[in-house]
Amino acid sequence: MNSHPDTVSATLYVVATPIGNLADLTERARQVLASVDLIACEDTRHTQKLLQHLGIRKPLISVHDHNERDRIDQVIEHLSQGRNMALVSDAGTPLISDPGYPLVQALADAGHKVVPIPGVSAMITALSAAGLPTDRFLFEGFLPHKRSGRVERLQNVAQQTATLVFYESKHRILDSLADMAETFGADRPVVVARELTKTFESFYRGSLAEVIEQLSSHDDHQKGEFVVMVAGNPAPVTASEVDFERLFKLLLKELPPKKAAAVLAELTGQSKKDLYQQALEWKDEA
Ligand code: SAM
Repeated sequence: MNSHPDTVSATLYVVATPIGNLADLTERARQVLASVDLIACEDTRHTQKLLQHLGIRKPLISVHDHNERDRIDQVIEHLSQGRNMALVSDAGTPLISDPGYPLVQALADAGHKVVPIPGVSAMITALSAAGLPTDRFLFEGFLPHKRSGRVERLQNVAQQTATLVFYESKHRILDSLADMAETFGADRPVVVARELTKTFESFYRGSLAEVIEQLSSHDDHQKGEFVVMVAGNPAPVTASEVDFERLFKLLLKELPPKKAAAVLAELTGQSKKDLYQQALEWKDEA
């Protein structure tokens, strides 16, 4: 329910566009693009091509990651003057690893009407044909470019039981898969979807080690755009196991093994003797 119905003037339509095959634009998206007064887009030249294909001429304003916050007032002004607008990104659904979140948030907060016009997203398209569990999935978007940040993000989701979904570019696909193999284990099942809805659409399936081999076998397999879907962890380590080891090692940094074992015996009710043995094993790693 809109919490500020009196302030609603015009509507911002958030319109999904194709990710490759132009025939994937919905009829409703075409109608909305043809009927709005102006279109906010990521890259005006890119959107101009789509509009030319559709035979639509509209004023365009650019809203991208670097100017989005400055554009919000301008968009609010247009809507307040009663001009309906559409928001599109270069491909797929706006806001999904694309600009639009600050704008939609500001409009929703200000009581303007925001209407989604659904269509393609690479994530859902890839999942629908991957053959991995889709009852629960975690969309992780793009990983950091730097290896240290990437590995840290992967470590954070290594225990997840849901299917993991990542976006990746040709520049980092092999590096990211190598880091996944190292962090999740080379046997973890993965499906890589490349160039969805385009001429060279391909799916690579197998363990992380096998898929890395498939992609490495020819430069052509590393070209284009990628969605990487990794099976969830079938046997995650529980939080209490992780905490126990971490806590034990932290205690061993501060206390002699006997004292650390005594504290943990008190905390957990486990045998002091067994914990002392464990302390002797771990004291050098602490
Ligand atoms: N908003 C888009 C969506 O709804 O999917 C995503 C935009 S994001 C900037 C671009 C990334 O999406 C690409 O780097 C790739 O990971 C993925 N992607 C987009 N189109 C794709 C395609 N045709 N095939 C495979 N992945 C694609």
